[in-house]
Amino acid sequence: MTIVRTPLVVGNWKMNGAFGANQSLLENLLRGLVQKRLPEIGVCPPFPYIAQVGALLANTPIVWGAQTVSEHRAGAYTGQVSAPMLKELGCTYVIVGHSERRQYCAETDDAVARQAVAVLDSGLMPIICVGESADEEATGQTLAVIDRQLAPVLLALAGVADEGTTVVIAYEPVWAIGTGKTPTPEGVQAVHAHIRKRLDAAGLVQTRILYGGSVKGSNAELLFALPDVDGGLIGGAALDAQDFSTICTAAANRMV
Ligand code: PEP
Repeated sequence: MTIVRTPLVVGNWKMNGAFGANQSLLENLLRGLVQKRLPEIGVCPPFPYIAQVGALLANTPIVWGAQTVSEHRAGAYTGQVSAPMLKELGCTYVIVGHSERRQYCAETDDAVARQAVAVLDSGLMPIICVGESADEEATGQTLAVIDRQLAPVLLALAGVADEGTTVVIAYEPVWAIGTGKTPTPEGVQAVHAHIRKRLDAAGLVQTRILYGGSVKGSNAELLFALPDVDGGLIGGAALDAQDFSTICTAAANRMV
């Protein structure tokens, strides 16, 4: 079987946006992407803006998604949003297990796995985030933390995954998010190779592994040239049309 992993760049807008600002950001981004060779590109705005973003991006090369999801399909879960609702909004991707959700909303490894299954069950693609904290990195626990976070996900996928199942893993060292710090390229590659080994063993050989954490236009080329980095999950730089467009171009260079 030929393994083709189309590079993917996804912007996580976090809790940022406003109707006017979203429109100019996307218009500028679409202008910046014209005639360029493109990877797969997605943006994940806050829930209230998904419909607007979907309308602005219809019939463009950019798809859209959400930043989190309920593990439940429907019912008495005040404030939650289900995967079938996101499907109706035309989403392609749903980020699950972002470190900010784990930290501020106490989402556990098991809950993240259940969310990933809920996303798949609705025909959407989960982007499952894993990554170690600064303390865990400093004490040499990175790979153990990744294994602990991946284990329930791989177990859950074993029940539902088939050859066509598409999930994405995002390696995001918590200490690199929004800080301007990144691991060395060797450090990134080592963790991605470790994740690749786990995915291969689970039969998920087509799975793309994104790197996230202070990716900018200035370092994207270097990071995306690494053998097991299939693109990026981008926070701050996704709010800057020019920077995000440069990052997308860097990911597209993996295709040549
Ligand atoms: C993120 O929040 O997923 C992220 C990678 O943020 P930043 O690019 O700002 O570090």
